[in-house]
Amino acid sequence: MIRKLLHRVFKRKPPVSVSASTASGTRLHIIPRKQHGISRNHISPCALKVTSDLQQAGYSAFVVGGAVRDLLLGLEPKDYDVATNATPEDVRAVFRRSRIIGRRFRLVHVMCGAETVEVSTFRGNSPTDEDDGTTADKHADEHGRLLRDNVFGSQEEDAVRRDFTVNALFYDPANEEIWDYLNGYDDIEAKRLRIIGDPLQRYREDPVRMLRAVRLAAKLEMQIDAATAAPIGDLAPLLRNVPPSRLFDEMLKLLLSGHALACVVDLRARGLHHGLLPMLDVILEQPLGERFITLALRNTDERVRQEKPVSPGFLFAALLWHEVLAQWNSRQAAGEKPMLALQQAMDDVLAVQDKELAIPRRYDAIMQEIWAMQPRFLGRGGRRPFRLLEHPRFRAAYDFMLLRCESSEIDAELGQWWEAFQRADAGEREAMLLKDELPKKRRKRRRRPEAVAGAGASPDSSDADAVIS
Ligand code: ATP
Ligand code: MG
Repeated sequence: MIRKLLHRVFKRKPPVSVSASTASGTRLHIIPRKQHGISRNHISPCALKVTSDLQQAGYSAFVVGGAVRDLLLGLEPKDYDVATNATPEDVRAVFRRSRIIGRRFRLVHVMCGAETVEVSTFRGNSPTDEDDGTTADKHADEHGRLLRDNVFGSQEEDAVRRDFTVNALFYDPANEEIWDYLNGYDDIEAKRLRIIGDPLQRYREDPVRMLRAVRLAAKLEMQIDAATAAPIGDLAPLLRNVPPSRLFDEMLKLLLSGHALACVVDLRARGLHHGLLPMLDVILEQPLGERFITLALRNTDERVRQEKPVSPGFLFAALLWHEVLAQWNSRQAAGEKPMLALQQAMDDVLAVQDKELAIPRRYDAIMQEIWAMQPRFLGRGGRRPFRLLEHPRFRAAYDFMLLRCESSEIDAELGQWWEAFQRADAGEREAMLLKDELPKKRRKRRRRPEAVAGAGASPDSSDADAVIS
């Protein structure tokens, strides 16, 4: 409906915008509602309240960035950002339910009901511009990466320091105008993702913009403009200088964008995957691993698009599985006992990730559980399947096992058996048990409580050992 409306609006010619030259040579286009079609009713109540309260207090305030872009494209904005000439302290004084956050980049979070709107003060030019392009000042590292970005500025400067033209549009709900300094509106119409300013300098300032280009192009179904795309391959190594936690945040956004598969394929095509996701280096080159990851990402994308919950832990477990598998196999080939070998393989893979990708430790437990439960699916005799079914993580581990079947790593029959076993009633389940599959336990072990993480501690690990060996 919105899409249709916007389509009609975009088709309407000629444009009726007002334009004016600005101090630094950009041209401000003010686009009225009858051209862009966004009514203030499309804006979230909180964003509307924040802009109108700030304006009433005498400040200028606009909805900015991703929300304006998404509304123009007929997408539902994930969240709302507001930009204003009020300082964080001024904003704080206007809203009772607000707090200042961030040290490097101070923002105000304003809360209304369950919604939070992020309010930022117009930021000025990057200090490298003032210094004639020299990057040796304390605002940037030796590669030109900006370390500080907290200088207040004009609205126009705030537009210019943003990443892409389509992300630099301001919407004023009071008079329903879009203020466009950088022809972002035309770029939205042309579905063109164009970086603001000199691409080389902008990627040097913040290499994460290369990842954002890939993610936004996939999400918005836009073409990356040729000049914007050109330096990406050469500058990919700059990602190594980005703090791992920031890289992780951006990767998580990318993986949970609903377009993860398209993004990963594009990252690879542009040479951006090396060193970024260490497992992608190796795995995408192995036919089985590639198939497994493709399936995992496709599954995740489908879930995101159906608005079903997605567990990042599950996804990381999938992305790293073939690394674990390779190490597990080689340890077993060297004579290590299967469960011990699996535990070691898991530990090694997680240690490398911790260093290189900074997958936060909070995901370790879920990844370990999913991996460690895999051998237990082979135990289809006695009480083992019943115990596995009761495991709190059964669902995740089962979905994971199905992915392994689908990628032909293991026999599809195992997945079918487990699917039927879950559907079966008590009598049918008894009849399904494969009585001869497992060797008899050699000695009785005292049951230990179910461990949260780690294969070796699982009560069924002795069974699993017996099955694999
Ligand atoms: P999403 O749909 O993922 O939220 P977004 O464009 O809103 O996309 P945010 O990370 O929420 O992305 O950023 C909000 C805005 O801040 C962007 O639209 C852009 O104007 C600006 N911005 C974000 N990251 C950068 C960056 N690395 N460099 C310059 N500007 C940025
Ligand atoms: Mg956003």
